Amino acid sequence: MSIHASSRVRDVEYAIRDVLVKAEEVHRSGKRILYLNIGDPVRYGFETPVHIRRAFTKAVEDGFNYYSPSEGLRELREAIAEKENRVNNASIEPRHVVVTTGISEAIMFLMAAVVNPGDEVLIPGPCYPTYLTYTKFFGGKPVVYRTIEDHGWSTDLEDLESKITSRTKLIVVINPNNPCGSVLPRSDLTRILELATTHNIPVAADEIYDRIVYEGSFSSLASLAKDASVIGLNGFSKAYLMTGWRLGYMYIQDPEDRLTDVWEGIQRLSRLRLCASTPVQLAGVEALRGPQHHVDEMVSTLRKRRDLAWKRINKIPGLNSAKPAGAFYIFPKIRWNGSKWKNDEEFVTELLKETGVLVVHGSGFDSVYGKDHFRAVFLPPEPELEEALAAIERFMKAHEP
Ligand code: PLP
Repeated sequence: MSIHASSRVRDVEYAIRDVLVKAEEVHRSGKRILYLNIGDPVRYGFETPVHIRRAFTKAVEDGFNYYSPSEGLRELREAIAEKENRVNNASIEPRHVVVTTGISEAIMFLMAAVVNPGDEVLIPGPCYPTYLTYTKFFGGKPVVYRTIEDHGWSTDLEDLESKITSRTKLIVVINPNNPCGSVLPRSDLTRILELATTHNIPVAADEIYDRIVYEGSFSSLASLAKDASVIGLNGFSKAYLMTGWRLGYMYIQDPEDRLTDVWEGIQRLSRLRLCASTPVQLAGVEALRGPQHHVDEMVSTLRKRRDLAWKRINKIPGLNSAKPAGAFYIFPKIRWNGSKWKNDEEFVTELLKETGVLVVHGSGFDSVYGKDHFRAVFLPPEPELEEALAAIERFMKAHEP
């Protein structure tokens, strides 16, 4: 007799990696796969800077191979507070920081500490899907607020306000956004903070792409927050090219001490999983305090790839896309969806089978505001990116109604 998994894990999904299963099948049939599905720059030739790699090996050689304190090494929490205060104009101390194994773990801690069954969490649509999944995992209800594609995916503030109820426990902001690459205007952030203060709701800001911005100016939520309660999430995966190292952090900026209980809960949870990797944390200190020029170099390389992808996609019949202002994703609308393909998932499967190009269906980033789109990364070097875009163009032309 088979043993059933818990109902809690039955609904767990993660479109970005789930599509890989289909790609493996297609690969087995002999087709070359062009991967545009995963936001990992290290997979596309960007290398973890050498001073960070050396700091890691030195930490291992010097014997820093034991468990660290659960909330993270003091030195790293100091470096994180310094960075957030200096670069993002936050106002935090090391005791306000918990180090995690990537933001992914921080999202889990956050939802575990905030959500009771039946509670609502306001999440932008489309969004990084882990926010939806963990809200549901802990018995909460994700309530997705609209972002406006024609206005560069900025926030529909009226929609957000109309969805605040007595059960709303948290507002999530992802800036710059994955999957649509938007950088939120200051005015959106200020209004969200006003609403949060009026309704006594904390705001969580995922700013993992804070240093990967091409246009507009990025403002951290903490820099604008005044007396609102902010939970910041950030990490080393993207700007420091440390995806596989699994290092991130969360912090609170909470001048009115509304989050004391939540923060204690997060610290208790952090003890349950002992700690993040100790030598990786020491490499994290070097990442924050060492040379930073690789960030500008990466952004200028990515800007060219962004321009190429955006211009090319808007010339392909049946597709159009807003210009990504940050991160490394483009989120085109599939204009013939519904007539040529049943939905965006079918579009992605057919594209994969016919061309070998792997992208992620937009509904994997929210079934309402993400549908009829797909997400592609513009991380590959130009020749590979050109090849994939040319294949998408041929596919669209072959299916032109
Ligand atoms: N948050 C956003 C918005 C992301 O795009 C990603 C990864 O793509 C993550 C969090 C996860 O990051 P980490 O590698 O720190 O777990």
